[in-house]
Amino acid sequence: RRLDSRCGLSAGLLGESQTPVHTEPMEGVYEVTGELGRGKFAVVKRCVEKASGKVFAAKFLRKRRRGRDCRAEVIHEMAVLELARNNARVVNLHSAHETDHDIVLILEYAAGGEIFDLCVSEEMLPEPQITRLIRQTLEGIHNLHQSNLVHLDLKPQNILLTSQLPPGDIKIVDFGLARRLGAVGELREILGTPEYVAPEVLNYEPITTATDMWSVGVIAYMLVTGESPFAGDDKQETYLNVSQVNVDYSKEAFSKVSELAVDFIQKLLVKAPEDRPTAAECMTHPWLWQQQLCLSPEPMIIRPVRERSCGVKWAAPLEDPEDK
Ligand code: ADP
Ligand code: MG
Repeated sequence: RRLDSRCGLSAGLLGESQTPVHTEPMEGVYEVTGELGRGKFAVVKRCVEKASGKVFAAKFLRKRRRGRDCRAEVIHEMAVLELARNNARVVNLHSAHETDHDIVLILEYAAGGEIFDLCVSEEMLPEPQITRLIRQTLEGIHNLHQSNLVHLDLKPQNILLTSQLPPGDIKIVDFGLARRLGAVGELREILGTPEYVAPEVLNYEPITTATDMWSVGVIAYMLVTGESPFAGDDKQETYLNVSQVNVDYSKEAFSKVSELAVDFIQKLLVKAPEDRPTAAECMTHPWLWQQQLCLSPEPMIIRPVRERSCGVKWAAPLEDPEDK
Protein backbone atom coordinates (compact mmCIF):
# COMPACT_ATOMS: atom_id res chain seq x y z
CA ARG A 1 0.00 0.00 0.00
CA ARG A 2 1.34 3.36 -0.94
CA LEU A 3 1.74 5.71 2.00
CA ASP A 4 1.29 8.91 0.07
CA SER A 5 -1.94 8.93 -1.85
CA ARG A 6 -2.04 12.69 -2.32
CA CYS A 7 -1.63 12.69 -6.05
CA GLY A 8 -2.66 9.25 -7.16
CA LEU A 9 -5.99 9.07 -5.47
CA SER A 10 -8.69 10.53 -7.67
CA ALA A 11 -11.69 8.90 -6.02
CA GLY A 12 -13.91 11.33 -4.22
CA LEU A 13 -12.49 14.48 -5.75
CA LEU A 14 -14.90 17.30 -6.50
CA GLY A 15 -14.61 18.00 -10.19
CA GLU A 16 -15.67 21.60 -10.55
CA SER A 17 -15.01 24.90 -8.87
CA GLN A 18 -16.86 28.17 -9.38
CA THR A 19 -13.84 30.39 -8.88
CA PRO A 20 -12.34 31.38 -12.25
CA VAL A 21 -8.64 30.61 -12.66
CA HIS A 22 -7.04 33.79 -14.04
CA THR A 23 -4.24 33.32 -16.53
CA GLU A 24 -2.97 36.89 -16.87
CA PRO A 25 0.34 37.43 -15.07
CA MET A 26 -0.11 37.62 -11.31
CA GLU A 27 2.58 40.27 -10.99
CA GLY A 28 0.19 42.89 -12.40
CA VAL A 29 -2.34 42.27 -9.65
CA TYR A 30 -0.30 41.24 -6.60
CA GLU A 31 2.99 42.04 -5.05
CA VAL A 32 4.31 38.77 -3.65
CA THR A 33 6.57 39.15 -0.60
CA GLY A 34 7.86 36.79 2.09
CA GLU A 35 7.21 33.08 2.63
CA LEU A 36 4.61 32.12 5.23
CA GLY A 37 4.97 28.36 5.13
CA ARG A 38 5.50 25.34 2.97
CA GLY A 39 4.47 21.73 2.64
CA LYS A 40 5.29 18.89 0.28
CA PHE A 41 3.77 20.36 -2.87
CA ALA A 42 2.93 23.91 -1.85
CA VAL A 43 4.62 27.14 -0.91
CA VAL A 44 2.56 29.85 0.78
CA LYS A 45 3.65 33.46 0.43
CA ARG A 46 2.35 36.74 1.75
CA CYS A 47 1.02 38.96 -1.00
CA VAL A 48 -0.56 42.39 -1.34
CA GLU A 49 -3.33 43.18 -3.81
CA LYS A 50 -2.01 46.28 -5.55
CA ALA A 51 -5.42 47.88 -6.20
CA SER A 52 -6.67 47.59 -2.62
CA GLY A 53 -3.53 47.26 -0.51
CA LYS A 54 -5.14 44.22 1.13
CA VAL A 55 -2.89 41.42 2.34
CA PHE A 56 -3.56 37.82 1.28
CA ALA A 57 -1.81 34.47 1.49
CA ALA A 58 -0.89 33.02 -1.91
CA LYS A 59 -0.72 29.21 -1.90
CA PHE A 60 1.36 28.04 -4.89
CA LEU A 61 0.29 24.50 -5.75
CA ARG A 62 2.38 22.62 -8.30
CA LYS A 63 0.36 21.40 -11.27
CA ARG A 64 2.76 18.52 -11.85
CA ARG A 65 3.98 16.39 -8.99
CA ARG A 66 6.24 13.41 -9.46
CA GLY A 67 5.62 13.62 -13.19
CA ARG A 68 1.82 13.48 -12.90
CA ASP A 69 -0.80 16.08 -13.74
CA CYS A 70 -2.38 17.10 -10.44
CA ARG A 71 -4.59 19.90 -11.65
CA ALA A 72 -7.69 17.94 -10.56
CA GLU A 73 -6.39 17.91 -6.99
CA VAL A 74 -6.05 21.66 -7.00
CA ILE A 75 -9.52 22.20 -8.48
CA HIS A 76 -10.85 19.89 -5.76
CA GLU A 77 -9.17 21.94 -3.01
CA MET A 78 -10.77 25.07 -4.46
CA ALA A 79 -14.18 23.40 -4.64
CA VAL A 80 -13.99 22.36 -1.00
CA LEU A 81 -13.08 25.90 0.06
CA GLU A 82 -16.08 27.14 -1.90
CA LEU A 83 -18.41 24.70 -0.15
CA ALA A 84 -17.07 26.04 3.16
CA ARG A 85 -17.38 29.68 2.09
CA ASN A 86 -19.91 30.64 4.79
CA ASN A 87 -17.92 28.86 7.51
CA ALA A 88 -16.29 31.68 9.49
CA ARG A 89 -13.69 29.26 10.90
CA VAL A 90 -12.38 28.32 7.47
CA VAL A 91 -10.04 30.53 5.48
CA ASN A 92 -11.77 32.23 2.56
CA LEU A 93 -10.76 31.73 -1.08
CA HIS A 94 -10.44 35.16 -2.71
CA SER A 95 -9.34 34.22 -6.24
CA ALA A 96 -7.12 31.88 -8.23
CA HIS A 97 -4.32 32.36 -10.76
CA GLU A 98 -2.42 30.08 -13.04
CA THR A 99 1.29 30.33 -13.78
CA ASP A 100 3.53 28.04 -15.80
CA HIS A 101 4.06 25.56 -12.99
CA ASP A 102 1.46 26.39 -10.38
CA ILE A 103 -2.12 27.18 -9.63
CA VAL A 104 -2.07 29.89 -7.01
CA LEU A 105 -4.89 30.13 -4.48
CA ILE A 106 -5.28 33.66 -3.11
CA LEU A 107 -6.50 33.06 0.42
CA GLU A 108 -7.66 35.16 3.31
CA TYR A 109 -4.54 35.98 5.32
CA ALA A 110 -4.27 34.58 8.85
CA ALA A 111 -1.71 36.90 10.39
CA GLY A 112 -1.23 35.04 13.69
CA GLY A 113 0.53 31.96 12.34
CA GLU A 114 -0.03 28.32 13.29
CA ILE A 115 -1.35 27.16 16.65
CA PHE A 116 1.59 24.75 16.40
CA ASP A 117 3.74 27.62 17.70
CA LEU A 118 1.53 27.79 20.81
CA CYS A 119 2.05 24.06 21.34
CA VAL A 120 5.84 24.23 21.27
CA SER A 121 6.31 27.57 23.02
CA GLU A 122 8.01 27.66 26.42
CA GLU A 123 5.03 29.37 27.99
CA MET A 124 1.86 27.31 27.86
CA LEU A 125 -1.32 29.12 27.02
CA PRO A 126 -3.72 29.37 30.01
CA GLU A 127 -6.50 26.77 29.80
CA PRO A 128 -9.34 29.29 29.29
CA GLN A 129 -7.48 30.47 26.16
CA ILE A 130 -6.94 26.90 25.00
CA THR A 131 -10.60 26.03 25.45
CA ARG A 132 -11.61 29.13 23.46
CA LEU A 133 -9.46 27.93 20.54
CA ILE A 134 -10.82 24.39 20.85
CA ARG A 135 -14.41 25.67 20.87
CA GLN A 136 -13.76 27.66 17.72
CA THR A 137 -12.09 24.65 16.08
CA LEU A 138 -15.11 22.51 16.98
CA GLU A 139 -17.48 25.11 15.51
CA GLY A 140 -15.54 25.02 12.26
CA ILE A 141 -15.47 21.22 12.18
CA HIS A 142 -19.14 20.97 13.11
CA ASN A 143 -20.07 23.17 10.16
CA LEU A 144 -17.84 21.17 7.81
CA HIS A 145 -19.36 17.90 9.00
CA GLN A 146 -22.89 19.33 8.59
CA SER A 147 -21.96 19.77 4.91
CA ASN A 148 -20.63 16.19 4.79
CA LEU A 149 -17.09 17.46 4.46
CA VAL A 150 -14.23 15.84 6.34
CA HIS A 151 -10.87 17.61 6.61
CA LEU A 152 -8.66 14.55 7.28
CA ASP A 153 -5.48 16.57 7.90
CA LEU A 154 -6.34 18.48 11.06
CA LYS A 155 -3.18 19.25 13.01
CA PRO A 156 -1.69 22.27 14.78
CA GLN A 157 0.06 23.32 11.54
CA ASN A 158 -3.26 23.60 9.73
CA ILE A 159 -5.08 25.65 12.38
CA LEU A 160 -4.03 29.28 12.07
CA LEU A 161 -4.78 32.43 14.04
CA THR A 162 -6.04 35.79 12.82
CA SER A 163 -3.55 37.48 15.17
CA GLN A 164 -0.75 36.23 17.38
CA LEU A 165 -0.61 38.36 20.50
CA PRO A 166 -3.04 38.10 22.07
CA PRO A 167 -4.15 34.97 20.20
CA GLY A 168 -6.98 35.91 17.80
CA ASP A 169 -9.58 33.65 16.25
CA ILE A 170 -8.79 30.36 14.53
CA LYS A 171 -8.91 29.72 10.79
CA ILE A 172 -8.75 26.19 9.42
CA VAL A 173 -6.56 25.80 6.30
CA ASP A 174 -5.22 23.09 3.97
CA PHE A 175 -8.11 21.25 2.36
CA GLY A 176 -5.92 19.16 0.07
CA LEU A 177 -6.94 15.89 1.76
CA ALA A 178 -10.51 16.97 2.54
CA ARG A 179 -13.29 14.88 1.04
CA ARG A 180 -17.04 14.93 0.74
CA LEU A 181 -18.55 11.88 2.37
CA GLY A 182 -21.17 9.82 0.65
CA ALA A 183 -20.20 10.93 -2.84
CA VAL A 184 -18.50 7.72 -3.94
CA GLY A 185 -19.33 4.94 -1.51
CA GLU A 186 -16.91 4.25 1.30
CA LEU A 187 -13.87 6.38 1.79
CA ARG A 188 -10.60 4.70 2.68
CA GLU A 189 -6.91 5.22 2.09
CA ILE A 190 -6.49 8.96 2.46
CA LEU A 191 -3.34 9.36 4.45
CA GLY A 192 -2.65 12.45 6.52
CA THR A 193 0.34 12.84 8.82
CA PRO A 194 0.90 9.64 10.86
CA GLU A 195 1.38 11.54 14.13
CA TYR A 196 -2.09 13.08 13.86
CA VAL A 197 -4.02 10.45 11.97
CA ALA A 198 -6.65 8.13 13.49
CA PRO A 199 -6.17 4.33 13.79
CA GLU A 200 -8.89 3.57 11.21
CA VAL A 201 -6.88 5.44 8.59
CA LEU A 202 -3.75 3.40 9.29
CA ASN A 203 -5.83 0.21 9.33
CA TYR A 204 -7.49 0.90 5.99
CA GLU A 205 -10.92 1.04 7.61
CA PRO A 206 -13.72 3.39 6.59
CA ILE A 207 -13.17 7.09 7.14
CA THR A 208 -15.96 9.13 8.71
CA THR A 209 -16.41 12.45 10.49
CA ALA A 210 -15.11 10.67 13.61
CA THR A 211 -11.70 10.57 11.94
CA ASP A 212 -11.46 14.36 12.33
CA MET A 213 -12.57 14.09 15.96
CA TRP A 214 -9.51 11.96 16.77
CA SER A 215 -7.37 14.81 15.49
CA VAL A 216 -9.18 17.24 17.79
CA GLY A 217 -8.07 15.02 20.67
CA VAL A 218 -4.47 15.15 19.45
CA ILE A 219 -4.60 18.95 19.05
CA ALA A 220 -6.08 19.41 22.54
CA TYR A 221 -3.39 17.11 23.98
CA MET A 222 -0.67 19.15 22.31
CA LEU A 223 -2.07 22.50 23.44
CA VAL A 224 -2.25 21.46 27.10
CA THR A 225 0.98 19.42 27.36
CA GLY A 226 3.19 20.82 24.60
CA GLU A 227 3.84 17.26 23.46
CA SER A 228 2.69 15.20 20.52
CA PRO A 229 0.87 12.17 22.04
CA PHE A 230 1.82 9.52 19.47
CA ALA A 231 5.12 10.73 18.04
CA GLY A 232 7.66 7.90 18.15
CA ASP A 233 11.34 7.84 17.24
CA ASP A 234 10.43 6.71 13.74
CA LYS A 235 7.37 6.21 11.56
CA GLN A 236 6.96 2.56 12.59
CA GLU A 237 6.86 3.44 16.27
CA THR A 238 4.41 6.25 15.62
CA TYR A 239 2.11 3.88 13.72
CA LEU A 240 2.28 1.40 16.57
CA ASN A 241 1.52 4.09 19.16
CA VAL A 242 -1.51 5.24 17.19
CA SER A 243 -2.95 1.82 16.48
CA GLN A 244 -2.49 0.74 20.10
CA VAL A 245 -3.69 4.12 21.36
CA ASN A 246 -0.56 4.28 23.44
CA VAL A 247 -0.96 7.67 25.15
CA ASP A 248 0.92 9.05 28.13
CA TYR A 249 -1.47 10.53 30.70
CA SER A 250 1.16 10.45 33.43
CA LYS A 251 1.41 13.00 36.21
CA GLU A 252 4.63 14.42 34.71
CA ALA A 253 3.07 15.43 31.43
CA PHE A 254 -0.20 16.53 33.03
CA SER A 255 0.99 18.20 36.24
CA LYS A 256 -0.56 21.54 35.32
CA VAL A 257 -3.50 20.20 33.37
CA SER A 258 -7.07 20.11 34.73
CA GLU A 259 -8.91 16.81 35.19
CA LEU A 260 -11.61 18.00 32.82
CA ALA A 261 -9.04 18.53 30.08
CA VAL A 262 -7.81 14.95 30.51
CA ASP A 263 -11.40 13.70 30.39
CA PHE A 264 -12.05 15.64 27.19
CA ILE A 265 -8.95 14.21 25.51
CA GLN A 266 -9.57 10.65 26.71
CA LYS A 267 -13.06 10.66 25.20
CA LEU A 268 -11.66 11.54 21.78
CA LEU A 269 -8.55 9.36 21.71
CA VAL A 270 -10.42 6.05 21.56
CA LYS A 271 -9.84 3.43 18.93
CA ALA A 272 -13.44 2.77 17.85
CA PRO A 273 -14.58 5.75 15.74
CA GLU A 274 -18.23 5.21 16.73
CA ASP A 275 -17.32 5.69 20.39
CA ARG A 276 -15.91 9.18 19.82
CA PRO A 277 -18.19 12.13 20.49
CA THR A 278 -19.23 14.28 17.54
CA ALA A 279 -18.21 17.93 17.30
CA ALA A 280 -21.62 19.01 18.61
CA GLU A 281 -21.35 16.57 21.52
CA CYS A 282 -17.86 17.83 22.33
CA MET A 283 -19.23 21.36 22.56
CA THR A 284 -21.19 20.34 25.64
CA HIS A 285 -18.17 19.02 27.54
CA PRO A 286 -17.75 20.93 30.81
CA TRP A 287 -14.02 21.53 30.16
CA LEU A 288 -14.92 23.97 27.40
CA TRP A 289 -17.27 25.95 29.65
CA GLN A 290 -15.33 26.18 32.92
CA GLN A 291 -15.88 29.56 34.60
CA GLN A 292 -17.09 31.08 31.40
CA LEU A 293 -20.54 29.70 30.85
CA CYS A 294 -22.22 33.04 31.58
CA LEU A 295 -19.67 35.43 30.13
CA SER A 296 -18.86 33.89 26.79
CA PRO A 297 -16.58 36.43 25.11
CA GLU A 298 -17.61 35.77 21.55
CA PRO A 299 -20.95 35.00 19.92
CA MET A 300 -21.31 31.25 19.51
CA ILE A 301 -22.08 29.78 16.16
CA ILE A 302 -23.46 26.63 17.71
CA ARG A 303 -24.77 26.49 21.24
CA PRO A 304 -24.82 23.40 23.41
CA VAL A 305 -28.26 21.90 23.80
CA ARG A 306 -29.49 22.58 27.32
CA GLU A 307 -30.00 18.96 28.46
CA ARG A 308 -26.55 18.00 27.24
CA SER A 309 -24.64 20.85 28.82
CA CYS A 310 -24.50 19.18 32.24
CA GLY A 311 -21.90 16.81 30.82
CA VAL A 312 -23.64 13.66 32.02
CA LYS A 313 -24.72 12.26 28.67
CA TRP A 314 -21.64 13.36 26.84
CA ALA A 315 -19.54 10.23 27.18
CA ALA A 316 -22.00 7.85 25.59
CA PRO A 317 -22.84 8.24 21.91
CA LEU A 318 -26.27 9.87 22.05
CA GLU A 319 -29.12 7.55 21.19
CA ASP A 320 -30.71 9.23 18.23
CA PRO A 321 -32.94 6.92 16.22
CA GLU A 322 -32.50 9.13 13.16
CA ASP A 323 -28.79 8.37 13.19
CA LYS A 324 -29.49 4.73 12.44
P1 ADP B 1 0.35 22.16 2.64
O1 ADP B 1 -0.75 21.47 1.93
O2 ADP B 1 1.60 22.18 1.84
O3 ADP B 1 0.56 21.69 4.04
P2 ADP B 1 -0.94 24.53 3.75
O4 ADP B 1 -2.19 25.02 3.14
O5 ADP B 1 -1.07 23.79 5.04
O6 ADP B 1 -0.11 23.69 2.69
O7 ADP B 1 0.05 25.75 3.98
C1 ADP B 1 1.35 25.54 4.51
C2 ADP B 1 1.62 26.54 5.62
O8 ADP B 1 1.52 27.88 5.11
C3 ADP B 1 0.59 26.49 6.77
O9 ADP B 1 0.93 25.51 7.71
C4 ADP B 1 0.73 27.90 7.34
O10 ADP B 1 1.88 28.03 8.13
C5 ADP B 1 0.94 28.76 6.06
N1 ADP B 1 -0.35 29.25 5.57
C6 ADP B 1 -1.24 28.57 4.81
N2 ADP B 1 -2.34 29.29 4.54
C7 ADP B 1 -2.17 30.49 5.16
C8 ADP B 1 -2.99 31.68 5.30
N3 ADP B 1 -4.19 31.75 4.72
N4 ADP B 1 -2.49 32.70 6.03
C9 ADP B 1 -1.28 32.60 6.61
N5 ADP B 1 -0.47 31.52 6.52
C10 ADP B 1 -0.90 30.46 5.82
MG1 MG C 1 -0.63 21.93 5.76
